Amino acid sequence: MKTLSCQDVSGLACPFVAKGETEEEVIQQLMDHAKTAHPEESAKMMEGKSEEEMKEMMKSKVKEEEVAGDMGGGDTGEAAGGDMGGDTGAAV
Ligand SMILES: [Zn+2]
Repeated sequence: MKTLSCQDVSGLACPFVAKGETEEEVIQQLMDHAKTAHPEESAKMMEGKSEEEMKEMMKSKVKEEEVAGDMGGGDTGEAAGGDMGGDTGAAV
């Protein structure tokens, strides 16, 4: 998963972190966030820069984040075997 922190890009003390599968996705999220949450600051940052330049700058701030919950989720389901129940029933 990719993450992009508003603080890394804007330098503001903002807790917003965009999360997505691709760089494009998180960049788009952060741009939308910046326009709504910090319209003045984002206007200043964009001043004299093209949208492409902004995207290149943000790209360098995108981080790769490992999601621990994604791994081993399928294995746990298989471990629950119903085969042993039959033996217990015959003993009673
Ligand atoms: Zn922000």
